[in-house]
Amino acid sequence: MKDRTALSTALVTGASAGIGAVYADRLARRGHDLVLVARSAAKLEALAARLRGETGVTVEVLAADLVDPADRARVERRLRDDARIGLLVNNAGTTVPGGFANADLDTLEKLVALNVTAVTRLAAAVAPRFSAEGQGAIVNIASVLALAPEVFPGIYPATKAYVLTLSQSLAAELGPRGVYVQAVLPGATRTEIWAHAGRDVDSIPGVMEVDDLVDAALVGFDRREPVTIPPLPDAAQWDAFATARLAMLPNFRQSKPAARYRAAVPA
Ligand code: NAP
Repeated sequence: MKDRTALSTALVTGASAGIGAVYADRLARRGHDLVLVARSAAKLEALAARLRGETGVTVEVLAADLVDPADRARVERRLRDDARIGLLVNNAGTTVPGGFANADLDTLEKLVALNVTAVTRLAAAVAPRFSAEGQGAIVNIASVLALAPEVFPGIYPATKAYVLTLSQSLAAELGPRGVYVQAVLPGATRTEIWAHAGRDVDSIPGVMEVDDLVDAALVGFDRREPVTIPPLPDAAQWDAFATARLAMLPNFRQSKPAARYRAAVPA
């Protein structure tokens, strides 16, 4: 079947601000019709009006809180049933201040609901249709913190490690059926998320502008990279990491524990 990802409608979550809003802008300029998802209907409507005016594409607003199961189900239904949608940008995500010592458990659970559960459910809602059609693309926004849990407190890096692994699992299963899955790993990028983290973005070294981040991620998309790390200067470093991981795989099949774990016989 002919790949129509390039012409299809794109559903972008977290499109009211930051990285998602720039994805919406760039995809509209590429000619994609859009479905924009976030909680703030007013911000989405303003962006939709601008993009309709500037690009002529059809832009629909689907206001939803992806932590709320009923709202999230509306987005899932849309992904499942709307055959025009050929691209999902799973971008909505956030962080919270602080680490584990004073963690509020309900706050942590909400973070998992957005960064992990919603990303999973939306991908799972669209995967059967894409898989049956033999086309479509899923872009999951992870983070370099998936690879650097030591440098950021709390569970945010773990949620992003999940997104990276989920993307690799999806790519392994759906890639051979014609579905493209991309994990994007931004480094620190100038958006409102830093205010949610309780951090002054200007105090962080090496912050990327959001336009540059999304434009680079789209270069990776066009190359059909499985993992795109816009700030990493030397791609060979990621390749070496991936190669080292894959080299371990055959060694995980052992009927006995490794020699170093065999209990010494007491004298
Ligand atoms: P942002 O500027 O804070 O934007 C977050 C977007 O997600 C907004 O559109 C927000 O809209 C939406 N959102 C938040 N909670 C939501 C909910 N419960 N339901 C639906 N939508 C919700 O953050 P950003 O930096 O662009 O982040 C986008 C993605 O990039 C996230 O997954 C983030 O983890 C990742 N990332 C960011 C950085 C960075 O340095 N900026 C680095 C690595 C990865 P509403 O408030 O209107 O709902």
